[in-house]
Parts: sequence; C-alpha cells; structure tokens
Amino acid sequence: MSLVPLRHKAAGHDGPLQSPDGLLFYKPTVQQEIEFYNGTQQRMARISDSASLGANIADWMPEYLGVLSPGVSDQLRTSNPETLDSLDPSILEYSETIGENGESKTLLVLENILNGFNRPHIMDIKLGSVLYDEEASPKKRERMKNVSLTTTSGSLSFRICGMQVPDDFQGDLPEDISNCKMEEVCHYELDGFITFDKYFGRRLDKTNVKDGLSIFFRYNKLPKGIQDIILEKFVIRLKMLYNCLLDAEVRIISGSLLFVFEGDEDRWKSEDYEDPIIKQSFISDDEEDEGEQDLEEESSTAPLSCLKFIDFAHARYTPGKGYDEELVNGVDNLLNLIENI
Ligand code: ADP
Ligand code: MN
Repeated sequence: MSLVPLRHKAAGHDGPLQSPDGLLFYKPTVQQEIEFYNGTQQRMARISDSASLGANIADWMPEYLGVLSPGVSDQLRTSNPETLDSLDPSILEYSETIGENGESKTLLVLENILNGFNRPHIMDIKLGSVLYDEEASPKKRERMKNVSLTTTSGSLSFRICGMQVPDDFQGDLPEDISNCKMEEVCHYELDGFITFDKYFGRRLDKTNVKDGLSIFFRYNKLPKGIQDIILEKFVIRLKMLYNCLLDAEVRIISGSLLFVFEGDEDRWKSEDYEDPIIKQSFISDDEEDEGEQDLEEESSTAPLSCLKFIDFAHARYTPGKGYDEELVNGVDNLLNLIENI
C-alpha cells in the first residue's frame, strides 16, 4: 500500500496524491506554503475557542497535518505528532520518488476534502487580478499580466480555473457559451467524469461567466430543490468568508476557492438534506466530551457540500496591513453572480 494519484482534481499541476483510503491529501509544496500553514496553526493556538466558526481563515482551510520531507531518514516531520499513528508507514515509500535532478519534493499533508463524497462535483476558482508576486521572473510577470488582462481575473478578480463533474448526461455536453466551445474544453475521464480544463474559464468574460458558473451548479441530474439548497449554502458561505477576509491581514496571490458538492442524490436523502455550513475539524478536539473520535469514525460523515480556501504557495500574513482587497473584491463579485443563478 502506498500513495496513489489524487482521484478527483479540478485544476492545478500534476502531482497531488492521496492515501489509498482517501483520508489524506498530499501535494508537492514550497517553503512559503508550509510557512503559511504553520503560521495559521500558531495563530489558531492563540485564539480563544469562543470565536465563531468561520471567523478565522483557518476555518476555511483544509485541516493541516504537516509535511513529509523525503530523504530525512524515516522521520516524519509533522506538527501534529498525535496524528502520526494514523499515517500509514508506507508513505515513506514516497522518498523513492524524489525528482531525478534532486530537487526537494516536500509534500504538504492535508485532509482530503473529497473524502466521503460518492460523486463529487468540484470547481477551482482562483481569486485576485494580480497573478504573480515579487519573486516572479520578468517572463512570468508578462505572461501572468496577459492572463489577467484577457480573462475575468482582470475584470472580476476571480477566474474559474477548472472543474470536474460527473457525466450525468452521458456525453451530452452543456450548450456552448459564445467563443467557449464545450467540445474544445471538456475532456472525458475514464471513470465517468468530465473535466473542464483551464481554457473553459479563460474563454469566459464578465458578461457570460455566470453561464459558466451555472454549468457547475445546474448541469446535473440532482432535483432542482437540491441544487437550490447547494446554491443557498454557498451563498451563505461566501458571505461568511467575505466577512472573515475583511478581518484577515493577509496577502494571498493565486489562492483558490474549492467548491465541492455531492452529486449522489441517495446521500442527500440518507443525510436528510442536512448540510453544515462548515464542518467541524476532523481531528478530534480535546474539549469534545465524546472523547476518542478517531479518524475512521469521523470519515463516515462527510458533508454534502463544502467551500475551502486552498493553494498558499504565494501567501503570507501581513500584520498591520489591513485586508487583501483583491480577495475581498473577487469574493464579492462571485457572490453577486452566484446569488442570481
Ligand atoms: P496547485 O499548486 O497545483 O495549483 P492546489 O493546491 O491549487 O495546487 O491544488 C490543486 C488541485 O488539487 C485543486 O484544484 C483541487 O482539485 C485539489 N485539492 C487541493 N487541495 C485539496 C484537498 N485538501 N483535498 C482534496 N483535493 C484538493
Ligand atoms: Mn491551484
């Protein structure tokens, strides 16, 4: 048993992995992303428990378990030592997959937020209109400026980076949206899913990006009532996230919002259509009276939908500098469109 490729992915580079049981997510990372997750964890340790769920950026991030550094003998470097027991020792096999040119391939270890979903619909939306940071080479700056200028990144401070949804209509693709031809941007996966690649979101503009978002929420065989519940939940989440970001002193370039919902109607029925706005941490809280809730028990109750902030390779805390206008604008624009689907 060893790590396997991530089963469902909305966008991003190749490389994300998951544990075979689906509980954990791993991706090659960089020092800046590790620092952001560590910084978040340290901040959370200082914050009183009375803060309402959703008020802190950590509430919107996947649970962080630590990092795996291949080549460091068989020591797992993790900041949650108590979770070590739940990690399969075979993850150390990963050390055999170090890149040929010896580059560091430290893995970030997170909760797999798709765990427990039967037929996940996933959409990755990148926030902000500035898509490069100070460290970017002049070449990359030029390229990223151009992407922003020619897409909704520039006009609305958000862009659909990619989606993956179950193929509910057996190859019957959604209607084309002006210069975005579905057969050019859609790809059939082997397991009955359709991927909408990065050109889907890049070809949309501010006049029709709502049609693109509608495909995510409406192009499926769930009853309209469930689709409406899903939309309502995401509107509430985006409003809460908006408020959270107004209080967050961060600068996050190229971060994404990951939207996930369950496409299996039977799970909606068996959970009685109950879907928490934010699911409590899957790592058991010391204060919980229920005591030992191990990972296995917890995994049986995945939410029916969730919103997560991901991808912090270009993120940092900026105390005293106020909120990140780019993020706030992007969430605001997204919210206004989704409210009207
Ligand atoms: P990249 O640097 O390659 O853009 P991201 O952090 O954006 O990496 O992740 C890429 C993709 O992996 C996302 O679009 C999403 O589909 C998936 N993903 C990211 N984090 C998680 C997670 N914690 N659980 C499940 N899937 C995830
Ligand atoms: Mn990404």
